[in-house]
Amino acid sequence: MTLATMEQKMELTLHQTIEKESWKTYGKVNRMWPDNLPYLESDEALRAYKRLLNKFGKMETYSKIREKFVKRKLHAGRKKPRRCWICVSGNSNTLSKGWRRLIHDVSHMIYDWRFPESSRDHNIAQAKIEQEMAQYVINSGWLNGKLKSKPKAKLTKDEKQIVKVNNYIKLIKSWETKEQRAKTYIRKYKLKLKRIKLKESL
Ligand SMILES: [Zn+2]
Repeated sequence: MTLATMEQKMELTLHQTIEKESWKTYGKVNRMWPDNLPYLESDEALRAYKRLLNKFGKMETYSKIREKFVKRKLHAGRKKPRRCWICVSGNSNTLSKGWRRLIHDVSHMIYDWRFPESSRDHNIAQAKIEQEMAQYVINSGWLNGKLKSKPKAKLTKDEKQIVKVNNYIKLIKSWETKEQRAKTYIRKYKLKLKRIKLKESL
């Protein structure tokens, strides 16, 4: 056997080992889930997405410019959940929608953010993040409806009116403050201008 083919063979084995390991982790993740996953509603899904990014989207990287480690945060870009994260009917245990889909997708986001240079494929690191995330979701009681919206109390007509009035009062106050600040700045800059003109005329 030549060295080249030996290397090729070794590489293949290493690649296969990695593949096997990641599938093992995926298997673990799959077995972690309860048999009957609860349904996932839209606002619940959005909350889960934001909290997962907040929890897992943090890291420190070395900045050559600032010559020290700096904290970085992955900010949630979505204002709405993906359609496939929502699952309010049918089979909630598939990978294609609901909780499992959401966690799988978000783990990809975290992985791609942490390792921007690496390939987009499935691998051990990505599987580990997914496993950690699934554990976090289960431990946090999210599957028991912890992130569900509380039903809103219905307001009477009078109560609605009060909310509106209070809101307008707040808006007026806020704009009055801005008006005051604007006046201060105008006075300040006029004064500066006046001083320059005075100097010129001397
Ligand atoms: Zn994937």
